[in-house]
Amino acid sequence: MHLSEILTHLGEDRKNYFNAVSPPIIQSSNFAFDDLEQFRQDVTDELANHIYTRGNNPTVEILRKKLAALEGTEDALVVSSGAGATAMAMLANLKAGDHVICVKNPYSWTKNLLLNFLPRFGVGHTFVDGTEVANIEAAIQPNTTFLYLESPNTMTFELQDLRACAALAKRHGIVTMVDNSNCSPLFQRPIDYGIDIVMHTGTKYLNGHSDVVNGVICGSHEMIRKIFQTEIMTLGNIIGPHDAWLVIRGLRTLELRVKRSFESAMKIARWMETHPKVERVLFPFLPSFPQYELARQQMTGCGGHITAFLKTDSIERVEVFFKKLKRFLFAVSWGGHESLVVPMAAFYNVPGRENPPYPFTLVRFYIGLEDPDWLMEDLEEALREV
Ligand SMILES: *Cc1c(COP(=O)(O)O)cnc(C)c1O
Repeated sequence: MHLSEILTHLGEDRKNYFNAVSPPIIQSSNFAFDDLEQFRQDVTDELANHIYTRGNNPTVEILRKKLAALEGTEDALVVSSGAGATAMAMLANLKAGDHVICVKNPYSWTKNLLLNFLPRFGVGHTFVDGTEVANIEAAIQPNTTFLYLESPNTMTFELQDLRACAALAKRHGIVTMVDNSNCSPLFQRPIDYGIDIVMHTGTKYLNGHSDVVNGVICGSHEMIRKIFQTEIMTLGNIIGPHDAWLVIRGLRTLELRVKRSFESAMKIARWMETHPKVERVLFPFLPSFPQYELARQQMTGCGGHITAFLKTDSIERVEVFFKKLKRFLFAVSWGGHESLVVPMAAFYNVPGRENPPYPFTLVRFYIGLEDPDWLMEDLEEALREV
């Protein structure tokens, strides 16, 4: 299906609501049946019918259809956060005694799930460097049932060869899942490479306006029904209709926003790489990126993150750089309209905490929708101080 069809029309049944162009927010927890017979029939399927909003809500359903089509899967679920999406999908596929292989340094709360939560239920894990499939293969144990990937990775953008990982996992009967938030469905479709479950933090690019927290799980009918039936209905992790409506609105401009963010980041990354005050730049579509070839093979673009290392050995110079920088907000998260910086230096010299494994010269930029030349002017001013 054409991307434009998905973003503009799919899932919308306008005749049912006065031909309104924008769908209604069905702000109702509950849905009535016509009679006893319909009641008897409908209650057997909470996912397909409109019974109660913890199960299915018509506004959320529009969003689910669009997201499944974007990832090329049969169905999708939307929950209250990206962390929740990861947790729901993993819990549904794990039992006591199982072992998970996960790429090292995944998103922080994914790591926390494996380190501090799942062990309480008897689930073990191994973190591996996923840049080589052989490392994953070597970590497989007789009880390994789940492989969790994140490509590109959060801070330094390591990739995994998704096709090779999926093939390896299939041979061993292992379920595969990938966090596809960085690329968005526009630039990478893991299902095409044989991955079973795709998750997104919908908080970032999918909603795109820094005003809703939500998470997405995409997969086959069978997989989605399994996650829904036990984890979603039991643990009650859902998105409300109003937030779902905001994400639908955000999706209207997904293509414009994500392309703009990628293209601006590409321009800024190229420029930064030649800048005398910058030691090194990481961006998957720079030819200097260690896995540039793989990026070109399995992605058609990437998220607008750039990780740069400033050329200095003094944390004071790094601090002055950030004092000068005016057009980037200091903030975590990403994927909205606004450009952001995460200074690694902010995690240094924090009382009661160890310094992080990355140098204080590391800066993670997220490039939003502003004019890239206007952002580079600001960077140039600040880099002068390094
Ligand atoms: C933000 C983020 C998450 C978590 O999503 P939330 O919606 O904040 O729970 C997961 N993965 C990646 C790559 C993220 O950037």
